[in-house]
Amino acid sequence: MNLFALLDQAAARFGDRGAVYHGERQTHTWGELRERALCLAGSLRALGPGARVAVASENRPEIVELMFGVWAAECVYLPLNYKLHPREMQQILEDADAALVFASPMIAADLGPATDVPLVVLDSDGYHARFTAEPAAVPCTDPAELAWLFYTSGTTGRSKGAMLSYRNLMAMTVAHLADFDAPDQNCSLVHGAPMSHGSGLYIPPYVLRGARQVIPASCAFDPEEFLDLCEHHPGCSAFLAPTMVARLVQTGRSCPRNLRTVVYGGGPMYVDSLKKALAAFGPIFVQLYGQGEAPMTITGLRRADHLDADDAVLGSVGYARSGVDVAVVRADGGAAAIGEIGEIVCRGDVVMSGYWKNPEATAATLQNGWLHTGDMGSFDERGFLTLRDRSKDVVISGGSNIYPREVEEALLEHPAVVEAGVVGARDDEWGEVVVAFIAGDVTPEELDAHLLDRIARFKRPKRYEFVDELPKNSYGKVLKRELRERLS
Ligand code: AMP
Repeated sequence: MNLFALLDQAAARFGDRGAVYHGERQTHTWGELRERALCLAGSLRALGPGARVAVASENRPEIVELMFGVWAAECVYLPLNYKLHPREMQQILEDADAALVFASPMIAADLGPATDVPLVVLDSDGYHARFTAEPAAVPCTDPAELAWLFYTSGTTGRSKGAMLSYRNLMAMTVAHLADFDAPDQNCSLVHGAPMSHGSGLYIPPYVLRGARQVIPASCAFDPEEFLDLCEHHPGCSAFLAPTMVARLVQTGRSCPRNLRTVVYGGGPMYVDSLKKALAAFGPIFVQLYGQGEAPMTITGLRRADHLDADDAVLGSVGYARSGVDVAVVRADGGAAAIGEIGEIVCRGDVVMSGYWKNPEATAATLQNGWLHTGDMGSFDERGFLTLRDRSKDVVISGGSNIYPREVEEALLEHPAVVEAGVVGARDDEWGEVVVAFIAGDVTPEELDAHLLDRIARFKRPKRYEFVDELPKNSYGKVLKRELRERLS
């Protein structure tokens, strides 16, 4: 089974219909998309099966042909978060031992000098030359083969590549169609969120049903543009981070006539914000709880679960998705009782096979067939799961994961910083924001300039708090809980 088969089916049934749109402009029919993916595969074959082919780009229409071309060549799709610093991108390319990287002109300007990996600029002559090869014949691929290498931020400052197979992505596809949405050829998937993550993972289910792939003309998320696109294209669905949902509500506009489904998740959605969104747009919302290691699919709340729901339901992440077992376990591995907080674990065909070249992290995360999510939560008597905390130290700001350790390490490289402690603070717009406690004789402006040279812009603290020294326990470990309490 190769995921290219999804495109093959759509092209057979809907060949002349529009498949990919940039804003309102059609860029590919299904027949053309299939043909281009096969020609690209013809040239990528030379890299050998299993070669990692990276894509570093803001949302652009080429991403769809690249994804299916990579799969048709039996290569591994490796998307990079385009907001990363070129140094961070290069670390991932090196870790994955990437054979080739496709980069948008905007990203290529900075990434080119930072990497040795051969780079092809989207829409350049070199890019178009990749589509002149003989179309490849697509083999029947073992479903256990690697299809997507999903890099998550690492707790140790190093990103880890969650290995997602064809089987994992097919299980995600089937669960999405079973639980959340029933698109057809008269529908559209509008890519508001980054296609390197959630929005891109949703491409397969919508391709299988022949639904349009719509990429905003700005290649970014602009709430007004997004809502306009949902007036223009038929039967629209989208995956959006909670921050993006809040920005839609802030426009004050009502629900566009063609907006059917908004899947939100990837970070906390506060009950107040959800109620405002339901009041503004009606019952179009679906919640997912997932992670790169079990893409988009651990638990969820369906549309109907949002109707007349109490705050406990709206504040939960819902219940187990089709084909996924979900449990909450105590530190000793035993099952937690109803209401008792423990670590959330899950198993099923969506769960990754491990982390790329990282057996220690794999052994810590996959135990006896269960994925240990690092999220803490509890079930209620109705089977709704509520996230209570994270055992992994991560701040989720605007849907992006930021590991405090990465920011602390970068801050400590500044000669005037004696100590640095980074925590997340609740924020109505971003969900959480990064706050850094600093001991040292240095200004916020100096720290900002220092960080811009080292880490992605979105990881920079939104606020600095200067202290004489950080609070520590008797072993000298920084008391993050106390830092968080100071903020509240
Ligand atoms: P990532 O691997 O980047 O997709 O991040 C996954 C993490 O995001 C999870 O382990 C959770 O901590 C968090 N997350 C995902 N979905 C939700 C949700 N619906 N509500 C709250 N947090 C979420």
